[in-house]
Amino acid sequence: MPQAIGYAAQAADKDLEYFEFERRDPTAEDVEIEIAYCGVCHSDLHQARNEWGGTVFPCVPGHEIVGKVTRVGDKVSKFKVGDTVGVGCMVDACGHCHSCDEGHEQYCENGFVGTYNGEDKHLGGVTFGGYSNRITVKESFVLSVSEGLDLAGVAPLLCAGITTYSPLRHWGVTKGHKVGVVGLGGLGHMAVKLAAAMGAEVVLFTTSPGKVEDGKRLGADHVVISKDEEQMKAWTNQLDFILNTVAAPHDLDAYLSLLRLNGTMCLVGVPAEHHPSPAVFNLIAKRRSLAGSLIGGIAETQEMLDFCAEHGITSDIEMIAMDDINEAYERMLKSDVKYRFVIDMATLKQK
Ligand SMILES: [Zn+2]
Ligand SMILES: [Zn+2]
Repeated sequence: MPQAIGYAAQAADKDLEYFEFERRDPTAEDVEIEIAYCGVCHSDLHQARNEWGGTVFPCVPGHEIVGKVTRVGDKVSKFKVGDTVGVGCMVDACGHCHSCDEGHEQYCENGFVGTYNGEDKHLGGVTFGGYSNRITVKESFVLSVSEGLDLAGVAPLLCAGITTYSPLRHWGVTKGHKVGVVGLGGLGHMAVKLAAAMGAEVVLFTTSPGKVEDGKRLGADHVVISKDEEQMKAWTNQLDFILNTVAAPHDLDAYLSLLRLNGTMCLVGVPAEHHPSPAVFNLIAKRRSLAGSLIGGIAETQEMLDFCAEHGITSDIEMIAMDDINEAYERMLKSDVKYRFVIDMATLKQK
């Protein structure tokens, strides 16, 4: 019996396939988790296909993990066997730099350890992610998950949820604010739900007229078709904050001009090619800011999970079997998913 089984890409141009590998036994500070669900993030596809460079093969992707604790080390105090837990994009960080000291492990100055394709300090080589039956993670990087929510729908909160929650919180989105969300995909649909739950008036911008109804169902007060110049113009100087989730190059000025005085647009989508540079005067004229944000720290991720439990928020998902992962990647490239694929790990069997 192998210690762990999963699905891995063996090379950038190969489909993911069945893979057996080693997981460490829990050290005194570790939690061992049997994985129930793992979300499928666009970063998984980028890394499995080495589109960002630096992927070490074989690569087991997956950083939206929910499961049950099966073993804990002697010094573990927050978790016990049987607890429902989550793991997101990070499994370790240096713990002593300015960013780590402030609880922003995602900005660790020495580089956080990714849940997959990160440096494995225990076994050597790289870390293997959540497209697998189990994982061993340091207690301080394990999140507590409420059992009151649909657990498959919780999995995407660990990346898509925190990636959108953190900037909404950082820029103080609250009741009375007008907040724009650009793009209705895995990130955008979470941004709409979260901003609405924070009390903001939410304006969704989409290129697809077919998404208007869905946008409103998810919590948007207004849906603007971004190709329609008249509709766009009506929001000039109106928005306090914009969360832009689009990962394709586009004209940022079209959105920056919708910000009111001191407004900020935060980018969370990473396009393969650069956006055209925004016009400086458009920023100066209303003291506007253009910013970026990366996932969230561990304490903030816990805060996000607790916020979602309190407000009954999960991701809208389509459940797939482990064998369907390659087809899911092709559909994800066509944005043919509402709004996140989640792998049911009960379908992963030893071969
Ligand atoms: Zn992700
Ligand atoms: Zn650090």
